Amino acid sequence: VRVTVLSGGVGGARFLLGLRELGHEITVIANTGDDITMLGLRICPDLDTVMYTLGGGISADRGWGREDETFRIRDELGEYAATLDESSGSDAVRSWFGTGDLDLATHLLRSTWLADAVPLSEVTRRLCQRWQPGVRLVPATDTPVETWVTLADGRRVHFQEWWVRLHASVAATSFDLAGGRTAVPAPGVIEAIRDADVVLLPPSNPVVSIGVILEVPGIAAALEATAAPVVGVSPILGGAPVRGMADACLAAIGVETSALAVAGHYGRRGAGGLIDGWLVDTVDAADLPALHDLGLHARALPLLMTDLDATAAIASAALDLAAEVRS
Ligand code: GDP
Ligand code: CA
Repeated sequence: VRVTVLSGGVGGARFLLGLRELGHEITVIANTGDDITMLGLRICPDLDTVMYTLGGGISADRGWGREDETFRIRDELGEYAATLDESSGSDAVRSWFGTGDLDLATHLLRSTWLADAVPLSEVTRRLCQRWQPGVRLVPATDTPVETWVTLADGRRVHFQEWWVRLHASVAATSFDLAGGRTAVPAPGVIEAIRDADVVLLPPSNPVVSIGVILEVPGIAAALEATAAPVVGVSPILGGAPVRGMADACLAAIGVETSALAVAGHYGRRGAGGLIDGWLVDTVDAADLPALHDLGLHARALPLLMTDLDATAAIASAALDLAAEVRS
C-alpha cells in the first residue's frame, strides 16, 4: 500500500515508527515552517526529527536532537553572548536554541549543499543515505519558508523564538508563513498525494505542523482532489495536547483544544474540508456521534504512543478506517 503522511516533528516521527512496522511504501511530506537560519546555518527541525527518529539517532529523553549529544559549542557561544552588548549582536548568537555538537554536523553539511544551490529535497535525500529512515522523506517545499508569530503585545517573532525561547508564554494572535505565497511544492509532493492509496495526518500539531504544510500553494488542493482516503489521528486527548503547546496554537486561530474541534477545523472532504476519517482516543469516545454528524468516519481507541506496539496499533487502525472510507 502506498501511504503518504504529512508530518511535523516529534508527534509525526513517533507515529511513523509504528506505521513503518506495518511494511508499506511510505512517503513523508515534512513541515519546513520551523526552519531557521542561525549563525549562517540552515536548520530544519522537523525534517531532522523524522530522519533521526526513523534512523535510530534521536535522543530518547528529549525527543529531538541526537543521542549521546554534547553542547560544547552552544556553551561556548553562550560565553560570547554573555559579554556582547546588543549593538554587537548578542541576539544573533541565539544560544537559546541549543543546537548540539553532533547535530551541527548535519546543519553544516546541509548549509554547504544549499549554498551550492542544491535543493532542500535533494539535500534531504543525501542526508538520508546515512540514516536510512525506511521511508521517502521529502520537505513540503524547497522554497525557503518560515513560520512567524504575531504576539498579543504586538511583537512579531520567528516561530522558534516563540516556542523555544518564550515557551509560548506570551499569547499568539496569528501565524503567517513568510515566503509561503510564492512557495512551490517540492518535486514529488503533489504526485505523492495524488497517487497514494491512503493519505494520513499523524498526530502532529494541526496549526504549526500540518497547517503550515497545507499553506504551501497546491498541497491543500491536492488533498481535496486525491482519490485516496484521507484519515487523521487526533493529537488532542481529553482536551489537551499529549506534549507541547498545541493548545496555545489552536487558541490563536480560534479553535477549541479538543479532538472534535480539530476535526471540525480540518473539515470533511467534499464539503470544503480535508479529511474523510478521524481517530480519537477512548477518553473522547463521547465525541463519536458529533463526528459522524460532521459526515466523518470515526473510531475511538487508545491513542497514546507509549511503545512501538501501541503505535503500530494506532497506525493500523488509521489504515483500517481508510479501508472503511474507501468501501
Ligand atoms: P513537533 O513538530 O515536534 O511539535 O511535533 P508534531 O507537530 O509532529 O507533533 C506534536 C503533537 O504530537 C502534539 O500536539 C502532541 O499532542 C502530539 N503527540 C505527542 N505524543 C502523542 C501521543 O502519544 N499520542 C497522540 N495522539 N498525540 C501525541
Ligand atoms: Ca515542529
